[in-house]
Amino acid sequence: MEREWLFDDEHRMFRESFGKWVEKEIAPKAEDWEAEGEFPFELYKQVGELGFFAGNFPEEYGGVGGDFRYMVVFSEELARCRSGGTAAGLGLHYTVAMPYIRDFGNHEQKEKYLAPGLRGESIGALAVTEPDAGSDVAGIRTRAVRDGDEFVINGSKIFITNGVRADWYIVACKTEPAQGSRGISHIMVDKGTPGFTVSRKLDKLGWRASDTGELAFDDVRVPATNVLGGLNRGFHQTMHGFQTERMTMAAGSTAAAQHCFDITLDYCKRREAFGTPIGSFQVNKHKFADMLTWIEASRRLIYHTVWLWINGLECAKEVAMCKVFCCENAVKVADMCIQLHGGYGYMMEYEVQRIWRDQRIQPIGGGTSEIQKEIIGKLLGL
Ligand SMILES: Cc1cc2nc3c(=O)[nH]c(=O)nc-3n(C[C@H](O)[C@H](O)[C@H](O)COP(=O)(O)OP(=O)(O)OC[C@H]3O[C@@H](n4cnc5c(N)ncnc54)[C@H](O)[C@@H]3O)c2cc1C
Repeated sequence: MEREWLFDDEHRMFRESFGKWVEKEIAPKAEDWEAEGEFPFELYKQVGELGFFAGNFPEEYGGVGGDFRYMVVFSEELARCRSGGTAAGLGLHYTVAMPYIRDFGNHEQKEKYLAPGLRGESIGALAVTEPDAGSDVAGIRTRAVRDGDEFVINGSKIFITNGVRADWYIVACKTEPAQGSRGISHIMVDKGTPGFTVSRKLDKLGWRASDTGELAFDDVRVPATNVLGGLNRGFHQTMHGFQTERMTMAAGSTAAAQHCFDITLDYCKRREAFGTPIGSFQVNKHKFADMLTWIEASRRLIYHTVWLWINGLECAKEVAMCKVFCCENAVKVADMCIQLHGGYGYMMEYEVQRIWRDQRIQPIGGGTSEIQKEIIGKLLGL
């Protein structure tokens, strides 16, 4: 009997082949990419050609028609690739940007973005956050004004994953400023559109191999048909997109915590102090017991929530709980693993420090822990 009830044979087969590929093709090179600050752009194409982007997308556009569990497995397996930045770049394209096109795009947009996106030939980014508006999505200021058959966009975006190298951007713009959250639309902007520039590649604590960009829009003209989904429906669409984004983040963080736990357990069985393996000191044994409990509890919560989601059951509260609990547990585990490594844990050649740096963004990106707790409170009627 399988211990993991959530997945079917098709997901297990996908895990087997994708996991092996990650271990063979990414893990040995990933530390170099982290040091260089970039993973090769061709990697998207390799992933696409091998069909690893196909899960959870319609067959009509080159997908396999599978469910969301493919994205969960994808995130879990990538979490062991030894580069949070590589996982973030590939994951943002597959589990965040492309689902927007799948869920809200019309046929022409799906032909244009989804089909090549699944082959890894054309890469997407989602641009919502601005220098003066992150948690407060409704407070964005980037403006799109209708002019005949076009929209003219002015404004800026910050912290955009794949922001420097993407081929297309889903840009959240104010189309009816007086309407607040009901006046936001998603508008597609292609790389190379006049007036659209990447102003900066940002330097950051973790996810070193991913390109996080600051974007500028200066009288950028795009056809009115570039609106993705409903006009002024952008806030609603973003909240929908957040659900699966947050679940894949929670699943990835839990898998990263497990990986960090595994390498630390191995280390603590081998490293000796006072003539005995450091793991055998009671205080350290208890640390492992605590960490394993946090990881197992995180995994149960995220798997239960994914089950609710794929069965079409209400799970907004659970998604927010996962985002807080799993992501914060991963940071706690990574921090404890550094302590268990002693001075070696602080050295760049030991993996635990990178996991800690890479996980530190998880309770911030995709909606902070505080915002998740606000959501839970609101759903409780508080
Ligand atoms: C590496 C990286 C990659 C990212 N990728 C993307 C991307 O691809 N696309 C994109 O659009 N964005 C992206 N982001 C942005 C990310 O989603 C935001 O940073 C995040 O939502 C928080 O917004 P902020 O940074 O403006 O913080 P702020 O909103 O300024 O929040 C600062 C602090 O105040 C707290 N706070 C704010 N409001 C409340 C409240 N009501 N109650 C209690 N506390 C509150 C927050 O929890 C936080 O602790 C990325 C960020 C990083 C760092």
